Amino acid sequence: SMERNDAAKPPRARGAVSALERAQSFDALEREDFDCAVIGGGITGAGVAREAALRGLRVALVEARDFASGTSSRSSKLIHGGLRYLAMGDVGLVRSTARERKRVFALAPHLAERRWILVPARSYAALLAIRAGIATYEKLGAVARADRHRSWDARDLAREEPLLRREKAKYACVYREYLTDDARLVLANLRDGIARGVVAVSHAPVVALHIEAGRATGLEAQCAETGRRVRVRARCIVNAAGPWVDAVRRLEEPGAPSRLHLSKGIHVGIPAERLPVRNIPVMVNSAGRSILATPRGDIVFFGTTDESFPGGAVAEPLAERAEVESLLEPIPRYFDTPPVQAKECVTAWAGLRPLIAEPGKAPVEMSRRDEVTFGAAGVLTIAGGKLTGYRKMGVDVVERVAAALGRSLSPGRDEDAPLPGGDFDGDLDALAQSLAAATSIDRAAADRLVRLYGTEAGDVVARGRDRLTPGASPLAGEIEWAIDVEGAASACDVVFRRTRAALYDPGCRALAAPVAERMATRLGWSAARTHEEEQAVKTRLEADLSFP
Ligand code: FAD
Repeated sequence: SMERNDAAKPPRARGAVSALERAQSFDALEREDFDCAVIGGGITGAGVAREAALRGLRVALVEARDFASGTSSRSSKLIHGGLRYLAMGDVGLVRSTARERKRVFALAPHLAERRWILVPARSYAALLAIRAGIATYEKLGAVARADRHRSWDARDLAREEPLLRREKAKYACVYREYLTDDARLVLANLRDGIARGVVAVSHAPVVALHIEAGRATGLEAQCAETGRRVRVRARCIVNAAGPWVDAVRRLEEPGAPSRLHLSKGIHVGIPAERLPVRNIPVMVNSAGRSILATPRGDIVFFGTTDESFPGGAVAEPLAERAEVESLLEPIPRYFDTPPVQAKECVTAWAGLRPLIAEPGKAPVEMSRRDEVTFGAAGVLTIAGGKLTGYRKMGVDVVERVAAALGRSLSPGRDEDAPLPGGDFDGDLDALAQSLAAATSIDRAAADRLVRLYGTEAGDVVARGRDRLTPGASPLAGEIEWAIDVEGAASACDVVFRRTRAALYDPGCRALAAPVAERMATRLGWSAARTHEEEQAVKTRLEADLSFP
C-alpha cells in the first residue's frame, strides 16, 4: 500500500495562493504600503496585477468571490482575433488581438489549444467569398503559414467531419483559433503575479474606498469567511471589476453614471457521444446568429447568445429556456442527427459581457474594445475588452499607473517567461504520455490533466498519492492542489473553476460529496459546513440546468 508520509510535505508550488494562509494574506494587506491595489480577480485584474509586478510594483489584488468566478469563467474560451469584428470594421481590434493569441500560446501552451473553426459553404462561390474574408483576417493577424486556413471538399469533409450534412456543406473553409480555459488562464496569470510579489485574496469584497482630500488612498475589504475588515493603503487603485465596474465607480463617486451595457451570453453542453464533432463547426441559427459547437473532454458545448441584460450585474446569471432552444435549434439542420432537446443538456453556463455602452446599438453590434479612465478621486477604471486582449490591456493600464505614480517602468526580460505550468515546447501529447507512464492514471485522464495543469500535472497527481491505486481518479490530488496552490476555499470553487468538472464533465454531480469531504479534512469544516458545501454544489448545478 502507498501510505502517505506526512513528514514529506510537498514542496511549495511557484506562486501558490493557499486557502490555509488567508489570515497571513490579510495581515500583509493591512501591514504594507502598496503601489497599486487591483479590485477584481478576473482575467483583467489578474493581467494588470502580473504586468504591474513584472515592473517591480508592490501590488495587492482583492476579489469579492472566487478568482475568475465572474465573466472570466463563463466565456466561449476562444483566444481569437474575432473574425466577426472584422466584418464590423474594427480592424485595429482584430489586428492586436490576433497577435496577442500568439503570445498566450508562448506563455502557456497548455491553455492555447489549436483548433479548426469550420465554416460550411453550400457552393464553390460561397467558399471563395468566405476564404477571401479569412485571408484578410490572417494577413492582419500576421498568422504563421502553418496556421493558415484550408479548404475542404466533400471527400475531406466525409473524413474530417462526417456528421455534417452535405446540403449545408459541399465545401468548408477551416481556420485556426485557440481554445483556452478561461478560469485556468486567470489562475496561471495570478500565480505568476504572486510569484513576483502580488498579495492576492479571494472571497473578500471591497466594501469602501478611502478618500482623503479628494484622492483615493486606499480601500476596505471584508473577509467573507470571518468578517474581518482590512484597510489596504495604495498609491494607485485600479477598478477591474468587470460587469461590476459601475458599482465600484459609485464607491468613488456616488451617482456616477453607468458606462457599461451588460449583455448575457450562454453555453450548454451535451454528452460528446450524442454529437461527436471533431472540429469547431459554425452553425447559423434562425435568428441569424453564429453558434459554435465545441468538443471538449466528454462533452460538446454550444454557444453563444448575446442579449441585453438590464438591471445590473448578478453573480450567477442563468440560461433561459428560449436561449437554450435558440442554441440547439440549428443542430438537426446541420448534422445528421435527431433534434437535441433542452433536457439532454448536462452542463450549462451563462456570463455577462461588460460592454462599453453605445446608445442606439444592439449588443451584438457593440464594440468589444476596452477603455481606461480616471475617476474624480483618481481611481483608474478599466472597462470592456476581451479575454484575448488581457495582456495588452494589462500593459496599457500599468503604463497609466506608472504615469500617475510619476515613475518610468520597464517589464524587464521576464515579460515572456512562461506562466506556471507553461514551461514546455507545446507538445502536450508527449507531456500526457510521460504523465501516464509515471503514474497509474489512464491516458484519457492524463490528457485532461496536462490540458488543465500543463507541466504541473505530475505534482497535482502526486498530492493525492495516498488514495492513488491503478486506474484511480486524480481527484484527490486536484483537490489538494486547488486548496494549497490555487486558493480554493469552497467546494464550488473546486468543481466549477479548478477542475472545471461543472462545465466539461457530465458526471460532475457525483463529485460534490467527495470534494466537500476531502476539503473538510484540510480546512477543518464542521459536519454541518461540509453538508452545506456539498449541497451548494448540487443546488448550483441544478439551478444552471433549470432553464427558467
Ligand atoms: P470578470 O471576469 O467578471 O472579473 C471581475 C471580477 O471583479 C469578478 O470576479 C467579481 O467578483 C469582482 N468584483 C466585483 N465587484 C467587486 C468588489 N466590490 N470587490 C472585489 N471584487 C469585485 N472573450 C474572448 O476573448 N473570447 C471568447 O471566446 C469570449 N467569449 C465570451 C462569451 C460570453 C458568453 C461572454 C459573456 C464573454 C465572452 N468573452 C470572450 C469576453 C470575456 O469573457 C470578458 O471580456 C472577460 O472575461 C472579462 O473579464 P474581467 O476580468 O474584466 O471581468
